[in-house]
Amino acid sequence: MQQIFEQNVSFNQVRRRRLMQICAITALGLMAALAVANGITFIIFATGIGTLLLAFGLAFKQKLQTAAYILLWSMSAMLSAFALTGAGLFDLAILGYPGLLMFAAILGSIGLFVSLLLFVIAQCILLTWLTLQGYITPHIPSLSWPHLVFILVIFIITGFCVYVMVRDIKRLMLSLQQENNKVQQSQAKIQHLAHHDSLTNLANRSYGETLFQQLLASCHKQQQQLALLFIDLDNFKPVNDALGHAAGDDLLKQLARRLTAILPADHALIRFGGDEFLVLAPNAADSNHLDQLAERLISQITSPFEILQTQVSVSASVGIACAPKDGTDFKQLCRKADIAMYRAKEEGRNTYHYFDDSLDKANDDKFKLLQMLRLALSEQQFRLYYQPQVGLDSGSISAVEALLRWPQADGSMIGPDQFIPVAESSGLINELGSWVLGQACQHCAQLRQQGFVNLRVAVNLSVVQFKDGQLQNIVEQALQLAGLPAQALELELTESLLVDNTDHVLQQLNVLSQLGVTFAIDDFGTGYSNLSYLRRFNASTLKIDRSFISTEQQWQANAPLVQAIIQMATSLGLNTVAEGIENADMAKNLRALGCHDGQGYYWSPAVAIAQLPALLNKLQLQAKAL
Ligand code: C2E
Ligand code: MG
Ligand code: MG
Repeated sequence: MQQIFEQNVSFNQVRRRRLMQICAITALGLMAALAVANGITFIIFATGIGTLLLAFGLAFKQKLQTAAYILLWSMSAMLSAFALTGAGLFDLAILGYPGLLMFAAILGSIGLFVSLLLFVIAQCILLTWLTLQGYITPHIPSLSWPHLVFILVIFIITGFCVYVMVRDIKRLMLSLQQENNKVQQSQAKIQHLAHHDSLTNLANRSYGETLFQQLLASCHKQQQQLALLFIDLDNFKPVNDALGHAAGDDLLKQLARRLTAILPADHALIRFGGDEFLVLAPNAADSNHLDQLAERLISQITSPFEILQTQVSVSASVGIACAPKDGTDFKQLCRKADIAMYRAKEEGRNTYHYFDDSLDKANDDKFKLLQMLRLALSEQQFRLYYQPQVGLDSGSISAVEALLRWPQADGSMIGPDQFIPVAESSGLINELGSWVLGQACQHCAQLRQQGFVNLRVAVNLSVVQFKDGQLQNIVEQALQLAGLPAQALELELTESLLVDNTDHVLQQLNVLSQLGVTFAIDDFGTGYSNLSYLRRFNASTLKIDRSFISTEQQWQANAPLVQAIIQMATSLGLNTVAEGIENADMAKNLRALGCHDGQGYYWSPAVAIAQLPALLNKLQLQAKAL
């Protein structure tokens, strides 16, 4: 609006200037002609000069429309007067009309132009008629110097006015051209913004699809395949959390520059979203080439970044799918490359994996399993089984571990190893874990009422259950509802939880510890096996993983290690539990090394709650007999 207003103002100013210039130059021309005029001609010129000065004054006062009318009509009248009193249609004055019509077209309104044109036509007809009827006799003068002056005055005035007005038009066209260029540039800019990610300036997902189609078409012509590499940064979130989002943005920008620099010109790099990137690699003739490409990408990503004067390292998992082998639809191919990328993550991250149909099937199975899990949870199909932990010296029962079971309609049982990972990756573990805690506390409280007064229950926890910070409330509620003292509950944690999420977890463990709940480190020896964690996390029990003692052979190989673990744990004041004891010999071996408790098929597999009292009674009787 502002622009239109400004354009209008400047257009009117130009028009005003032109009107004043035309009035001035015409008046000057007429004054020159006045010098050589006489009689009636003199009077006409003098009147013309007067009206021109009036038009000049009006233009000066911004009355442009009126000024244009007065200028053009007075000039027309002047030319008519000359023609009528002079040589009629052959009078020199007729030469002035084309100029006047041009001014009217450029400076005046359409009404002024049309009326002037009609006036000129009518006058020519009238002059012709008057002459033919003999009412006027054209007075064709013999040539004289004053005539030349008149002719020159007409040409100079007309020429000058046409020149300035055409120059205005040229300028206008030039500025229009410039405006047009600007519009085209901003259109290109808008298109670029719509197609590119504003942070990294890489092609965005929607433009990525267009690039994919173009590359696919050219690969198709050359009978080559187009590979799609799906890159996901493995530990980008901690960078954002620790150094802030600006630092995270900086890392992504640096990363985009690095990857762009190493990619061949015909490859495309796309920011798929967040910390996910796509590479489109056309004409990937063999997997050797793709292996090398994936390795180069990973090595670029893993070399440290300098961010806020800090060396930051991330790694990446890459999934690869190829068109047409794995499909030709962009979304399908992205999904498949994504599935392959997850497999790369499962394989320990910082590596790449090709898609194949077995992955798709595994993914489908996972999806189906997740649907079934949701239903099972809402229909309360899960059951808790319990496996006792037995004192290796005394034979007395120190605790029972709650282990999840999923009974099937055909009588079979799906074990937790199969469904816990799916429940974890889908977040369903929160709901499932809360249910387990509630049930386990209730069962333990019931058993204590039935006479197993000092019985304790151990419940396995997943890392995911610590994420939303609600765990302490859930534990407290479970204990309260069951009326179970916190000391009767032991929570089993795995080492990975302690390594990855230190502060966040530590805080929650402290609150739980203050309630009186104790912690056990499960499957010790399979992960980082760092004893210093155990002190920091205030664990009271260490459970030695069953893989050390699962076979006689394993035992032979691992006995010194197990001995060292037991000694160090005991020196830290920790209780030790050996998992997976299947026979009396193994129980004896571990007792000899100073291990406190054992758990395993030697005493019993995990049993349903209904069978647990009988099992506990039997084990207590055995203990008395020792
Ligand atoms: P875990 O906590 O280490 O549990 C011990 C596993 O060893 C149980 O397998 C148990 O049945 C098995 N086991 C015990 N004694 C023996 C033995 O003498 N020989 C052999 N071969 N195996 C023995 P299960 O019940 O299949 O549980 C597997 C894992 O699933 C558990 O390992 C635990 O990590 C997880 N899990 C079970 N229930 C839950 C739960 O409620 N929540 C979470 N987050 N995880 C659970
Ligand atoms: Mg356990
Ligand atoms: Mg274990």
